[in-house]
Amino acid sequence: MGNITIRHATIVTVDPHRTIIPDGAITIERDRISMVGNDDAVVKAIKPDVEIDGRGRIAIPGLINSHTHMFQCLVRGLGDDMALIEWINRFMLKIIKVIEPEEAEAGAALSCLEMLRTGVTFILDNHHGKPTEKSVDLVASAIKTSGMRGLVARGITQFTDISGKLGMDPGGFPFTPEEQLKSMKRLLEKWNGAKDSPVKLSPAPGAVFACGDELIKECYTLAEKYRVPCHIHTAESGPANKLFRKETGQGEVTKLNTLGVLGPWTHIVHGIWLDDSEIRLMASKKAHHVHCPVSNMQIASGVAPIPKLLSAGVNVCLGSDGPASNNNQDMFGVMKAAALLQKVSTLDPKVISAYSVLEMATIGGARALAMEQEIGSIEVGKKADIVLVKRDSLTSAPSHRPTSTLVYSSLGSDVDKVFIGGHLLVDGGELMNADSELILERARAASEALFDRAKVRELLSN
Ligand SMILES: [Zn+2]
Repeated sequence: MGNITIRHATIVTVDPHRTIIPDGAITIERDRISMVGNDDAVVKAIKPDVEIDGRGRIAIPGLINSHTHMFQCLVRGLGDDMALIEWINRFMLKIIKVIEPEEAEAGAALSCLEMLRTGVTFILDNHHGKPTEKSVDLVASAIKTSGMRGLVARGITQFTDISGKLGMDPGGFPFTPEEQLKSMKRLLEKWNGAKDSPVKLSPAPGAVFACGDELIKECYTLAEKYRVPCHIHTAESGPANKLFRKETGQGEVTKLNTLGVLGPWTHIVHGIWLDDSEIRLMASKKAHHVHCPVSNMQIASGVAPIPKLLSAGVNVCLGSDGPASNNNQDMFGVMKAAALLQKVSTLDPKVISAYSVLEMATIGGARALAMEQEIGSIEVGKKADIVLVKRDSLTSAPSHRPTSTLVYSSLGSDVDKVFIGGHLLVDGGELMNADSELILERARAASEALFDRAKVRELLSN
């Protein structure tokens, strides 16, 4: 097959110059972008074999969801109106204790469809739903089957004194450190061996207070060896952070630095309760910040200091967080929340721009994966992960400023087409390769079975 050329689209490239091309064309050859430019210049230089009409569409790089827990779509809404520690103890640990691998997979398959349909092309799934080897395998396979790219960050946990003081149930920590490391190594060998594998694995210590020091260090060593992130929930809950500081005499990021695990492979997920010295530490060590604004608001965790992080030079990327604290994985909603939360909390409407937020959801995510040469922007030579968003939908027309449309007006349902590696996986808003009804039915059945075994039906009446 020859080239595919998307014509007459408004292209928001997210390249280093923040180039926007009002009447642009993108040529895709095999899995990569071979030309980007003004429509007339591109079609003068190359004869399109297949033309895609991009009129009334904004072309953006595929969105990168840098933090979610896909299985949680099975329990959407059950954790509403709880703060983090109650949410963990009264709800999530009960689910984690009993979830079966096939159920986690059913949730993951549905989450993949949700995200693909709404313009996500790369998923970082922090799988902590009783992550047995089989379960991790099935979740990674669900991403692969969907045609998306992804990283499954396997939750690794250990009951600690501080987890005990926070009232966490030891039963929610079913594996020994040795078991988890052995299984992590086997999974890394299996999934990260192939150079161009679309789905890889990485270690994810559950939280600084829910994983022992030695285990966190082992995780970081593995992350460095396999050149994948060490993805850690850090400084998310105010009360937990306060207790952590009282017990250890230092903040959570400072602690990671003391352990020697704050570096370019570290993902500080949430990073709300940071002091200024920790922001400087993150910048100097080139650690990444994974911001999840909707979840932070939903469970009232607090406001991450994004403007300070950005001005210190920290790379910030964006995640939906799991659908049990969001309660969906629509990155358009996450982008809007990321902008609005900073504006209202600083009382400064200029504190963050729509373009910065779009960068967090694209190239920022790519940098945090060390994949910025491959994905995250529409530039020649990169993988053809491209999303066309309608600018003439009822919620966004008339659209005058493309980045404003994308961040403040667009909904995930405005996504018209999604290409991943040059493959058209969503066309006219329809999923091309998936049996959505079957996947939905499996997820419904899995959640019903899970409610009974986890004994969480009482939460339905809240
Ligand atoms: Zn999370």
